[in-house]
Amino acid sequence: MSIFSANKKFERFEDVTPEFLEKEGIKLLLCDLDNTLRLHSEKEPADELAEWIEDCKKAGITIMIVSNNGRKKMMQKFCEPIGVDCVWWAGKPISKKLTEARESRGFKPEETAMLGDKITTDVWAAKFAGIKVYKVEHRKYVV
Ligand SMILES: [Mg+2]
Repeated sequence: MSIFSANKKFERFEDVTPEFLEKEGIKLLLCDLDNTLRLHSEKEPADELAEWIEDCKKAGITIMIVSNNGRKKMMQKFCEPIGVDCVWWAGKPISKKLTEARESRGFKPEETAMLGDKITTDVWAAKFAGIKVYKVEHRKYVV
């Protein structure tokens, strides 16, 4: 498979269901933040994000946010109410932080996937880390 292509493409993160992840054998989902789980401008987690994370947790899937965003306090404030750990300044497409996040939770590469919107950061970092990657479209306002 090409380094440019994701294992599967989705429109929005909500389309990546716990059922799909279970079928894929994924137990840890590393998620990009900006334009994947939120619009860049969103200060607080949207209801649909909180619900999706809750559903994943109920299915026994661990969610972690791995972002190139360097605003540590903003990220911690965003992630706290949804109860997920976050890694800031991840330096994607370098895969180091993805692998560190995975190993810190004791998951194997084949149990881990990355979810993101950008090929040159999220997709490449996942490829270098030897994990699956699912791509979503840049998040848009839902009317
Ligand atoms: Mg992004």
